[in-house]
Order: sequence, then C-alpha cells, then structure tokens
Amino acid sequence: MEQCPFCDIVKGVGPVSTVYEDDNTMCFIPLQPIYPGACIVIPKPHIDHFTDVPDDLAAQVMVTAQRVGRKIREVYQPLKVGMVVHGFGVHHAHLNLVPQYDPLDITYKHLAYIENGEIQFGLKPLPTPTRDELDAMARSLRLDD
Ligand SMILES: [Zn+2]
Repeated sequence: MEQCPFCDIVKGVGPVSTVYEDDNTMCFIPLQPIYPGACIVIPKPHIDHFTDVPDDLAAQVMVTAQRVGRKIREVYQPLKVGMVVHGFGVHHAHLNLVPQYDPLDITYKHLAYIENGEIQFGLKPLPTPTRDELDAMARSLRLDD
C-alpha cells in the first residue's frame, strides 16, 4: 500500500494535533486550517472512497463530526459549521469540518489564487500555523474539557 499520511497519524507516527480519538475514529487539526477550528475526521481503517466506508463506521464518523462540530460552534462561534467530503488530497476517507463565516466558505474560496495569469486552487494561500498553534486549536476543541 502506498504511504498514507492519515494511516501514519492513526499509528502515531509523526506529530499531530489531536482533538478526539476513539476506537474507530479520529479528529485532528489539518496542517493548514482554512480557519482556526477547522478539523478533519477520519475512520481509522484505510479506505479511499468515503462511499466504501461501512455504514456503521460512516455513522461513527458522523457522530464524531457532530460532537466536534458542536464544540467548534461553542468555541469559535462561526455562523455555520459545514461538513465536506470531497475525496481529494489524501486518499484516506475524511470529512472536513469547516467553520463558516460566509456562504462561500464551504467552497474553500480561500484556496483560489492567481498565478501566471490563471486562477489556481491549492493550499498556497492558507496560513501555516506552528505546531504549538495547531495544538492550541486542538486543545480548545477537546470534548472532555
Ligand atoms: Zn490511510
């Protein structure tokens, strides 16, 4: 199997700013959150397509997303918390929790930039917080605090 950064996170390889973990799911802060409080929720087993995640496990991912999403609302007070499953980027099923302050936040408008006269999309425009800043975001969203 090809190298999977999310499987590495599940195995505890390398740094991660963990918000929540149980036997089957995990929630952590991405390296470049669109806004403070943005999170990624994954099933622990490596499954590429979200639609291939078994029903009971998909439901557990959604419950984790619901609980952390409520905490995002409480702590960061966005207008809405969006949930996006697009399937690109890392090929390990994941659900993005997106604090939204504007209707276009769900479209990841922040990823658009112009280079060589053409509109591009990527992580380049996003800030890259330090690990300490990511850890602070994760701590602020822990469910047991
Ligand atoms: Zn994986």
